[in-house]
Amino acid sequence: MNLSAVLLAVLLLALPGCENDPARVQTARLVVFGTLVDISAWDIGSERFDQAVSEVELRLRQIHEDLHAWHPGRLKEINQALASGESSPLNPEIEGLIAKSTRLFRQSGGLFNPAIGRLIAEWGFQSDNLPSGPPPSGAAVKVILDAHPEMTDLHLSGGRIESLNPEVQLDLGGFAKGYAVDEAIEILRSHGIINVICNAGGDLRVLGRHGKRAWHIGIRDPRGAGVIASIDAEGDQSVFTSGDYERYYIYDGKRYHHIIDPRSGYPATGARSVTVIATRSIVADAAATALFVAGPGNWPDIARSMGIDLVMMIDQDGAVEMSQNMVDRVHFGNEFKPAVTVY
Ligand code: ADP
Ligand code: MG
Repeated sequence: MNLSAVLLAVLLLALPGCENDPARVQTARLVVFGTLVDISAWDIGSERFDQAVSEVELRLRQIHEDLHAWHPGRLKEINQALASGESSPLNPEIEGLIAKSTRLFRQSGGLFNPAIGRLIAEWGFQSDNLPSGPPPSGAAVKVILDAHPEMTDLHLSGGRIESLNPEVQLDLGGFAKGYAVDEAIEILRSHGIINVICNAGGDLRVLGRHGKRAWHIGIRDPRGAGVIASIDAEGDQSVFTSGDYERYYIYDGKRYHHIIDPRSGYPATGARSVTVIATRSIVADAAATALFVAGPGNWPDIARSMGIDLVMMIDQDGAVEMSQNMVDRVHFGNEFKPAVTVY
């Protein structure tokens, strides 16, 4: 064996070791946004990483405060004005988010509807503690539903917002986490961090790669503690899941969860979880919520009009529906052999 062959052999032996070398991955865990946010970056100096992470932490705390639907903050002030028929000043950030959510409302055929804050409050999900029931009366739900609160009731002009419909209350919980993850990724990128994952309680965006491989992502079993499938993501991709197991209560043996169908006023039925892959987290987050509401068999049309082509749904029977492009991206664990329908 000549010297270069020896060197090659040593390199080949060393490479897999490098891949798992913990020294090459920097990690940080933040408790913010009512969840754990884990950030892992590949091959970056610890000083630069720590600086970027502190900036991310400040930004996420600010977003959490500004967009909170029931704690005091900017959104709450806007909602108070809307409820009393007055106009409210808007900062450019919230104005941009309202414009964005109105576009997503339209593209989703109204299934992603952040104007239904009153319904979400009525169901008890605008609370720091999980409600325990009973669910609201049909009459209470009907009063709100009959008023048809929609994003298109809102009028923005001259840096102010008003609503023609006093039943409109904004709840941005359907895509706030996505927005926060996008902001975190922009901060990390601005610090030159180009191989990174930002994971907010299972919803995440990745940039680049984990060394020589993609980032491996687990998809939770909606009825158990484990992982049922894995997805590889790399480049610039977000993976967001909406599920009926995130925030729910059982009352009289029935599950009531926090994703509300704006057409019925009741928690959406049909799906247990929906996973969406898209570039931007804000879009993936809103789409996961909208497709969850659309339900089995009906999500492909909404996905198309939202420009989403990577979707996996687990329905109430544990069967799987997915888009054609998703088939190659999802790998099920050995114990999970679901019936799969491809659209
Ligand atoms: P999670 O944040 O738990 O991953 P989602 O992204 O699906 O779940 O967001 C659920 C939240 O979205 C609810 O708590 C509520 O604030 C809001 N929401 C519920 N139903 C809708 C809907 N039809 N359209 C827009 N937002 C909704
Ligand atoms: Mg969502």
